[in-house]
Amino acid sequence: MTTAILSALAEEQQGLIDLLREPRRVTRAGREFWLGELHGTPVVLAFSRIGKVAAATTTTTLIEAFGAQRLVFTGVAGGIGPGVQVGDVVVASEFVQHDMDASPLFPRYQIPLYDRERFACDIALGDALLAASRAGLESLALPATVHHGLIASGDRFVSAAEEARALHAALSAAGHPPLAVEMEGAAVAQVCHDYGIPFAAVRTISDRADDTAHVDFPKFVTEVASRYALAIIDEFVRGLNVPKR
Ligand code: SAH
Repeated sequence: MTTAILSALAEEQQGLIDLLREPRRVTRAGREFWLGELHGTPVVLAFSRIGKVAAATTTTTLIEAFGAQRLVFTGVAGGIGPGVQVGDVVVASEFVQHDMDASPLFPRYQIPLYDRERFACDIALGDALLAASRAGLESLALPATVHHGLIASGDRFVSAAEEARALHAALSAAGHPPLAVEMEGAAVAQVCHDYGIPFAAVRTISDRADDTAHVDFPKFVTEVASRYALAIIDEFVRGLNVPKR
């Protein structure tokens, strides 16, 4: 079974490529994919690119051209839920698109023709990623909090405190209080839903989506998030090989 590991950051992907056994690079849809083995598990690595459409294309290619049968996504996000701090980790239970608005034809946030606002992650894969996140952070001796819940995606880098507050309030009022905001996850979740492919996602909190978000971001990505993602994915892939009791 081929596992796809999708990174929202080029820096994260490089760390994984370095660990790959018998790496093979394939170009498709203007993107680079890396095939190989991680701890004996066949994997295909990809950089999602940024934004919902780009991430959807990458995901579709992983499934259609590389036969990915389950998909795990890592990246960074802005923390907008109460108590979700920079350096924490959020494992997604579900995704919502905060910029989807086809009202009054469809209710606010509803994905037209799907009759739903949220796409859920696979429960077993999500639990495995949650366990791997806790173990990975422990292996780095970092006292970060691991959260589990809803993540909101949209084609916007949220970098103003007032905007982050308004976004959180509007989603909460509609019954979708998010822990974090990013730009790809909901699109990947929707494609995986279309194909019936199990999907799970983890995001390290790089900023609070406020007025300093752009300042925190680049430093955090290179210094912290890439190490987190590597430790988490390493644990996750090792866990895939442990026979279930
Ligand atoms: N200049 C950056 C651009 C990253 S865009 C680069 O070098 O690549 C931001 C990325 O981080 C997206 O993948 C998005 O999913 C995530 N992200 C982190 N904080 C975010 C925020 N506050 N709002 C939206 N997306 C955020």
